[in-house]
Amino acid sequence: MSETLFGKIASGEIPVDLLYEDDEVVAFRDINPQAPVHLLVIPRKPIPTLNDVQPEDAALIGHLFLVAAKMAAREGIAESGYRTVVNCNAGAGQTVYHLHLHVLGGRPLQWPPG
Ligand code: IMP
Repeated sequence: MSETLFGKIASGEIPVDLLYEDDEVVAFRDINPQAPVHLLVIPRKPIPTLNDVQPEDAALIGHLFLVAAKMAAREGIAESGYRTVVNCNAGAGQTVYHLHLHVLGGRPLQWPPG
């Protein structure tokens, strides 16, 4: 499997300003923000899409969400509200095939999304 951009970010091969990192996940700002706060939380493990998540990844996926909530609190959007999004495959808009959790907030968010 060829390494994606996010795989290279997760391994440190491509340096970005990390907002958070631990042994399992890293978080950084989206380069093309769709809201005043738009972060990405990604596992270091190269999982291409949500469809590829395995039962043994359950704790990792839970951790991804816990870090997303921690980051939302740090960014000051926990109380006003924010959205977490995983786009799965091209029809949903996925462009980078390394699982990532979008964290969006800082403005009113419409429902349903486009
Ligand atoms: P997707 O469309 O759900 O796959 O989301 C990919 C996201 O990655 C998009 O929101 C892009 O703006 C973002 N992105 C692409 N390249 C970079 C980068 O180098 N740094 C940070 N975010 C990026």
